[in-house]
Amino acid sequence: MAWFLAAAVVLLALGGCGSAPGRTSPSVVAGFYPLAEAATRVGGADTRVSNITPSGAEPHDLELTVRQAERVLDADLVILLGRGFQPAIEKLAARRDGPTLELLQRLPVERTNRDPHVWLDPELMRAIAREIAVALRRLEPRAADVIDANADRYDAELSALADRFRSGLASCERHEIVTSHDAFGYLARRFGLRQHAISGLSPESEPDPAKLAELADLVRRDGLTTIFTEELVSPRVAESLAREAGVRTAVLDPIEGIAHAGDDYVRVMERNLATLREALACR
Ligand SMILES: [Zn+2]
Repeated sequence: MAWFLAAAVVLLALGGCGSAPGRTSPSVVAGFYPLAEAATRVGGADTRVSNITPSGAEPHDLELTVRQAERVLDADLVILLGRGFQPAIEKLAARRDGPTLELLQRLPVERTNRDPHVWLDPELMRAIAREIAVALRRLEPRAADVIDANADRYDAELSALADRFRSGLASCERHEIVTSHDAFGYLARRFGLRQHAISGLSPESEPDPAKLAELADLVRRDGLTTIFTEELVSPRVAESLAREAGVRTAVLDPIEGIAHAGDDYVRVMERNLATLREALACR
């Protein structure tokens, strides 16, 4: 058995390509997709990143299995939003000896703001990636150069995306968006839009009939053309509102998970931008 273990250790040490000499492949657990993507891009091939939210699942209030809980406890670094977005993971992370990065505490957002959807503002996504780079460098000081180079490359992509949003939404006929849950507040504020959500900050919160009637009025009064639905949440309520108001629906993806293989943050955000531009009649 001993020779086998020794061989396995050697293979592990040789594994991974394009690596900086002496890297130790830290294990990172991220609370949900956008944080996992940022950690993967910034950490590079030698950082083992796992997303604790199963693919196709919705991360709000995620409950953990025993195995998932063990991964959270054992990781070299845990990356979360914090402030109650995923209470089960947050409670567990508080029991860890190792470091946990709680991003909402470190981003330039108001302490009293209970909205966790910071990643949908590309400028705040850049800040998320920067904070993750700081945490990864601390975890692995010898890989600082690789981490910095990866972080610069990712930041350039996010910065270009933010520029396309700014110019793409600069002159639009309409500025009101009706969304499925209250996920696009940061994005709306950044680019001069106003969001009206059918349900609250979590997709599970039930919309009330008075709210729906009010939204139907808004749609008619302001001549809105589109009610936005999501990938991971049932579009039933949004569709019935659209029928009642006589408008169409389109997917505006809050990227709480990746619904289609091969997608990533920038690609989905590009689709969101195209969807917004069409619905708001932007030039
Ligand atoms: Zn959400």
